[in-house]
Amino acid sequence: MKDKHLMGVAGNDESRKLIIIGGMHGNEHSGPEAMRRVMEHLLKAGHPVRGQVYFILGNLKALERGERFVDTDLNRIWSDEHLRSASTDYDYNELREIHALIERICGGRYEDCALLDLHTFSADSGLFCIPAENAPSEALARYFGVPYIEKLARSLPETALNYYGEKGMTSVVFEGGKHNTPEATDNLERAIWLTLAYLNYIRKEDFPFVDDMKKYLEKISAAYPHRLEMVYRHRLEDYHHYRMNDGYYNFKPVDKGEPVARQNGRDVRTPFGGFMLMPLYQKKGSDGFFIVQERKHHRH
Ligand SMILES: [Zn+2]
Repeated sequence: MKDKHLMGVAGNDESRKLIIIGGMHGNEHSGPEAMRRVMEHLLKAGHPVRGQVYFILGNLKALERGERFVDTDLNRIWSDEHLRSASTDYDYNELREIHALIERICGGRYEDCALLDLHTFSADSGLFCIPAENAPSEALARYFGVPYIEKLARSLPETALNYYGEKGMTSVVFEGGKHNTPEATDNLERAIWLTLAYLNYIRKEDFPFVDDMKKYLEKISAAYPHRLEMVYRHRLEDYHHYRMNDGYYNFKPVDKGEPVARQNGRDVRTPFGGFMLMPLYQKKGSDGFFIVQERKHHRH
């Protein structure tokens, strides 16, 4: 299978497929770098892989430019409607090409496919992951031992995570750290290895370092709440001049009514208390910040 989005494939067992995407946002180079490392290691080690692992590059021109996207945010247009759209935006073309590639890989058998979508963020600290809203995705998210955000997929409906999650694929977004830092690349590499181990694509005895990677992620996440749910998304429109106030980072506690940003010359106060998530410290982006709250009791 040749395709310009396909970095490579590891494994010959076609019974199931794991798809790893890096660079869905072109200013996030840690994902592709982490994928390259794991792919080369897997191919070189030659140990059995129980399934096939596909390493897919996201927005190619945006990656070349180091920009989040070219015309439209590629990770906000995953829907059947957008796939049918006649838009000539470069990013729509990427959407159609990557989706066609994933269709060829999965052959309609979404339940035998899993997706790990690698991202980074513009704030200083606090890695986390986001499961699609199905039980296998939530189980994988819990396994990483890092904070995971429930109900975020639902408020970001046109992401690859949500699109393939709704088709029944095990899907998780892993947000590894601040854009283009060595730590973020290392954390995304850890996320890939842990996914391979958790889904039994590799044997732990062949790759014994995976246990230490899990311990490391647990250690750096120990101070943060783990099970969270999204309660507020501060959505931005094109006419908004938006600037986050200094000093926010992922999981910084915030009070209801706290001024957290300036928008068109006015204070933006958070309508909910809880923890800050993904405060926007870059130019491009359709979300100013999210507020998450700790979820202590299981609800059905
Ligand atoms: Zn991203």
